[in-house]
Amino acid sequence: MNENTLTALSLDDCINQADETKELLLKPGALDEIPGLLSKFFASRAVCVIADENTMKAAGKRVKDIIEDGGTKVAGMHIFPGEPRLHADYGHVRFLKNFMASLGGYPELVPIAVGSGTVNDLVKCAAYELRLPYLCVPTAASVDGFTPNGAALLLDGFKQTLPCTAPLALAADTEVIARAPAFLSSSGFGDLASKITAGTDWIVAEKAGAFGAPEAPARDPVCWSMIQINLMDNLQNSVNAVQGDGDAINTLFKSLAITGFAMQYMKNSRPVSGGEHLFSHVWEMEDLSMNGVPVTHGHKVTIGTLALTAFTETFFADPSGPPAIPKGFKRPSLEEREAEVSRAFDGSPAHDGIVKKSKEKFMDDKKAGIINEAFRDSWKDLRAKVLAKLLPYKELKELLAKAGCPVLPEAIGLARGYAIATARRAQMIRNRYGVIDIAWDMGAFEGILAKMEKSEIYLR
Ligand SMILES: [Zn+2]
Repeated sequence: MNENTLTALSLDDCINQADETKELLLKPGALDEIPGLLSKFFASRAVCVIADENTMKAAGKRVKDIIEDGGTKVAGMHIFPGEPRLHADYGHVRFLKNFMASLGGYPELVPIAVGSGTVNDLVKCAAYELRLPYLCVPTAASVDGFTPNGAALLLDGFKQTLPCTAPLALAADTEVIARAPAFLSSSGFGDLASKITAGTDWIVAEKAGAFGAPEAPARDPVCWSMIQINLMDNLQNSVNAVQGDGDAINTLFKSLAITGFAMQYMKNSRPVSGGEHLFSHVWEMEDLSMNGVPVTHGHKVTIGTLALTAFTETFFADPSGPPAIPKGFKRPSLEEREAEVSRAFDGSPAHDGIVKKSKEKFMDDKKAGIINEAFRDSWKDLRAKVLAKLLPYKELKELLAKAGCPVLPEAIGLARGYAIATARRAQMIRNRYGVIDIAWDMGAFEGILAKMEKSEIYLR
């Protein structure tokens, strides 16, 4: 793939590449056009509205009135409590499925999700399992999860991306989204910033994959054009979203939506999620909260992005070659590795699944040796590619702070040493090759963590 020949794709081009979503109305007053969307894309004459108490106030009531004025029946509404904050738990999907199936109009019912990421993920999954196309009315630019063909839900104690059909259409009213609480916009900004390290991890994976690493596909030029070409401009132009600035909100929502369209196109989350999301998944499994309030996905990902940026900078620090391997280093056997992973997740409901995944990604010495050799041989070129994409740690921290994101682990309830040490478990949980994997396979992993720990800059 020659990056220099790629150009950024417009929103319309991205929707054309996505094969499930047909339209994203993104503008002030988009709510008023919901009746038009319903008649254009949905054959049904009955809808149900799902919201929570906060999003009901923000947009749900108006959505209901607009739909009824347009002559469509609202067969039922379910409003989740506003407090405590709604969890993306599969149990709510079971409830919603029963609720929807009990309404008049089913099975021709159109579910309408009015809310931020969690309401949307719950409705997306329930609608998919009932085979109902649905309409999404986002009330915040809080996450990249509105548009992908998957929902991030807690099932069997483990946050998983369950395959689901994406919304058939979205009515994203930027006046509504601009009034969302600041922490939701900064969460969305953090999720968008994570695409920087998702990109560098994909560059690393592409190299390793060419020499046999599992789950390490080559970069896809269409996806890369969708997400990566304009990423830095889009981040700069979204910084004021947290202040409710209309243009910034528009850019932030559009950029997040496009990453979802890239997932629809690619049929997986590789283009939008690298090692930074693995840090976040570990904290999600622990139900990370701050003063009793769950930390948002975007804020966990923000600290994960800082941590992975620190890791990547440390790994690629030396222009002459990869970090030196400690004398006497020996890669563990498969049995030793299995025992290590098993200990790390002892007592977790996700234990068995993680042990299985870590065995799948375990490479024997021969294969790992070939990949190490390839990294050494092409170090200069690979390092240049990664560093050209990676935003230096200090600049990243400054940008995130400007956008109102947390930039210290303590700000999301984590001790610094604990946040750094999370890298060990992040490297175990998923079969998705990235910089933490090559460092581990080379034997450089612990040395990098020690350097991060000693650093005067990283995660301080
Ligand atoms: Zn994310």
